[in-house]
Amino acid sequence: MDPISGPVVLFHCGTGSELTPGVRMFLGEILPEISGRIRGREGALDLAVWCVSRLEESGLFNAGRGAIPQADGVVRRDAGAMVGDSMKALGISQVRGIPLMSRLVASLHGKSAHVHLSGVMVEPWARQNGWPEAGFQEEGHPDPLSFWSEAGESGSGTVGCVVRDGDGHLAAVTSTGGIGRMWPGRIGDSPIVGGGFYADDTLGAISMTGVGEAILTSGGGVALLVSMAHAATEGPASDCARAWLERVQKRFGATAGCVGISRGQPFFAHTSSLMVRGYVGGDRFFVADRADRDPF
Ligand code: ASP
Repeated sequence: MDPISGPVVLFHCGTGSELTPGVRMFLGEILPEISGRIRGREGALDLAVWCVSRLEESGLFNAGRGAIPQADGVVRRDAGAMVGDSMKALGISQVRGIPLMSRLVASLHGKSAHVHLSGVMVEPWARQNGWPEAGFQEEGHPDPLSFWSEAGESGSGTVGCVVRDGDGHLAAVTSTGGIGRMWPGRIGDSPIVGGGFYADDTLGAISMTGVGEAILTSGGGVALLVSMAHAATEGPASDCARAWLERVQKRFGATAGCVGISRGQPFFAHTSSLMVRGYVGGDRFFVADRADRDPF
């Protein structure tokens, strides 16, 4: 099976994330599981949600169980998902007490015409629908202000995944705890359709990471995909994505990264010095945290 044209799973663990021994060991466990799911012909959305939920539950990244608190010490998470055949999208922001945000988004995905829901309404819905009550106690950080001053501008470790399934359909999922030093209620790019995630079978799919304010004011992931689709040269997709991220860095002084599929080609790019990412396609897989190690 050719990973460039066949089913493929690409994921990232956020700008600044590093292949520590713990992360390496964890990814070593999930890569064969991803391979098995591709062979089992799992659909794009299910596979992307599964992959992100595994990253969320690991506690290793700033999403799911590892999410960082906002300035008032409360952890509020954001996530979003989109499928490329129907182009149905849903983002949910500022939810307390539910680590597996990707599963929460999946459970509401396609159930309404809305593309964004806030935690204020989703939390009671989740309670009524049997999401673990204990999770709602998860509030406050023992020392939020010291955490706040230690955390850099970007709390590394947003997680995201892009999938092309066996039928050629695309999906993208992104989940985050946000960035360091954020005001309570701040929402970045991650749960915004076209910002932190996007999937359209015709245009491509993308999951973004980095400083959400810079990503959103640059037009977000969909702007990156459109610029790639209209690029004059047919060079490697990763080079094209990197050039866009470099423009964002120049304009806003912020680093960012992404994984995606454009013109059928998988790509990774980042302007941060590190970003853990990987892909699985057929029997081949790859993980890295530095730009010079990419296969495409
Ligand atoms: N993009 C995320 C946000 O702004 C943070 C990140 O990816 O590190 O909330």
